[in-house]
Amino acid sequence: LCAAAAHARTEDSDAAHEEVTRLFAQGFSVDGREVHAEVKCGVAYYPEDGQEASLLVQKAEAALKEARSSGERYLHHRMEMNSALARRVGMEQRLRSALANGQFQLYYQPKVTLRTGKVASVEALLRWQDPQNGLIPPGEFLPLLETAGLMQATGFWVVKQAIADCRDWRRKGMPPLRIAVNISPPELRQRNVARDILEAMGDLSGNADWGIDIEITEGALSGDFSSCVHALRLLRAAGLKVAIDDFGTGFSSLGRLSELPIDTLKIDRMFTTRLPADPNSCTLVATIIGLAHAFDMTTVAEGVEKQEQLDHLLRAGCDAAQGYFHSRPLPKSLFEKWLLRFSSAAARTDTSSILG
Ligand code: C2E
Ligand code: MG
Ligand code: MG
Repeated sequence: LCAAAAHARTEDSDAAHEEVTRLFAQGFSVDGREVHAEVKCGVAYYPEDGQEASLLVQKAEAALKEARSSGERYLHHRMEMNSALARRVGMEQRLRSALANGQFQLYYQPKVTLRTGKVASVEALLRWQDPQNGLIPPGEFLPLLETAGLMQATGFWVVKQAIADCRDWRRKGMPPLRIAVNISPPELRQRNVARDILEAMGDLSGNADWGIDIEITEGALSGDFSSCVHALRLLRAAGLKVAIDDFGTGFSSLGRLSELPIDTLKIDRMFTTRLPADPNSCTLVATIIGLAHAFDMTTVAEGVEKQEQLDHLLRAGCDAAQGYFHSRPLPKSLFEKWLLRFSSAAARTDTSSILG
């Protein structure tokens, strides 16, 4: 239960709120059943916080939003809240036109197969070129896309752009490369998600060398996930690989894992970062690799930044690595240059090892 209240501050204001909180501390009886309701209040005072009703309500709502996310029961509006909220609302409005105005971009980060030292595939990572604030990483705008209801449309743009880039690389005669695209839980739950992706793939569907793969989070498979599993099966039947992103942070049920149509577990950066010094992380990484292999899945370690992490992962039997050690995510043209340099360096290493 949430309430935003705007009123004049009186001697009794705080006492009144304490009374509200106390009232909700007890359960209610509804049709003979005991129901517990928690109340959260966001409060703005007249006239300190504003002279006009609409402004006061807006500020009270800002305080309420903050109360919801911070876990506080009762919060009075503060200046900083307003500026944070104003920034959010402003960003949400600008995001609405970002798609139409071509402000989204895909950056690419390679995944390197540890056994061969070759680039196995590449992950597409979304960036927003905001005219007002410059290049914005997805952590800052994905939640807003979701609350603004723009996630599906943007997600489909990502799929189409990745496919277009893939075709472009094939046309240019680059070595075969698959692009992994992140699919958010609301996208995966759409009714025709598999059909839409396969339609966009066109003749690339069924091609083992070129095409897109998908990365989903453990959260996408919680709750009622039968429709998602159906979509994943359709995609896999067309040759797309499915990876679970940030694996190890979402408490996947092991029972489910064995039933799911999954090809790869991506070991979360949190564990990779602590290699090789932290024994718990070493154990967790070894366990995830063992689990994956036992179920015929491969592993990719995320966030590999150092040689010693790479060495440890190689010894532990991890299949691939992704991280700043090899390359940061790069815009398409820079990634192409990086790949050329990396491939020729790898070829030189190969020949020198053959030559002894
Ligand atoms: P993710 O899919 O787990 O992607 C890996 C993130 O780790 C990327 O952050 C990447 O830049 C970062 N990273 C890679 N290597 C390193 C490293 O060595 N050190 C450090 N510190 N970081 C590294 P980014 O690009 O900011 O993306 C964050 C998250 O946003 C992604 O996590 C993914 O969950 C989501 N995301 C990105 N693009 C999309 C998209 O197109 N659609 C959806 N639904 N989500 C996306
Ligand atoms: Mg990912
Ligand atoms: Mg990840």
